[in-house]
Amino acid sequence: MADLIRYPSPNWNERPAGVKPDTVIIHYTGMETGAAALNRLVDPAAEVSAHYLIEEDGRIFALVDEAKRAWHAGVSFWRGRENLNHNSIGIELVNPGHEFGYRAFPRAQITSLLALLDGIAARHDIKRDAYIGHSDIAPDRKIDPGELFPWAQLAAKGYGLWSTLAGHDKTVIAERGQKNANVMKFNKQLGIVGYHIGDTQSFGATTEFAVRAFQAHWRPEAVTGQIDIGTAAVLEDIAGQSGQ
Ligand SMILES: [Zn+2]
Repeated sequence: MADLIRYPSPNWNERPAGVKPDTVIIHYTGMETGAAALNRLVDPAAEVSAHYLIEEDGRIFALVDEAKRAWHAGVSFWRGRENLNHNSIGIELVNPGHEFGYRAFPRAQITSLLALLDGIAARHDIKRDAYIGHSDIAPDRKIDPGELFPWAQLAAKGYGLWSTLAGHDKTVIAERGQKNANVMKFNKQLGIVGYHIGDTQSFGATTEFAVRAFQAHWRPEAVTGQIDIGTAAVLEDIAGQSGQ
């Protein structure tokens, strides 16, 4: 693995007593350059950080010790737990993001990420299904790392879930405003995967955000916020694999 470049950030505090990292959260930086993102992640006034930042050329910057609590998740929820900063390791990938010219994550960057994850998996007890994106834990606020992030490549190495079902059928079968048995089933499955679904009876804004986040992660060819036949198949598969 490329040598870690130590670049300490002052933006961290202690994890709650007895809490160890059991989840990995993937982000993109969403700024015009990696240098700008790095500056922000070590700026005390910004009050944000991550444990690592990976440049597009594969260089890995180590900002916060894994034992400490970095500040990357913000208001968040996954599988009944809030404030994911407590129990996660945060990794920022340099990418301008949807605001400044979203583009594919280069091979060198993903190679470094996989090497970093090998080390993290060796040091901590992180279940296969606990590698997720910022948009998964804050679907109403965040869209990173986005539909170009190669989740399938990570899953092939044992980091995260994946569905091999080809969900190409885009016939919509549930969408915002509906309230029926189908909607209840999809809400239940989204909740099992990990998303925060308050009202499981109806397809409101919360469900729509969760569907978008689910699609960006597991069915990236059509991120619509509507449940189509392809999304339903992949959702059932991922829900079935979750928590095992
Ligand atoms: Zn993020």
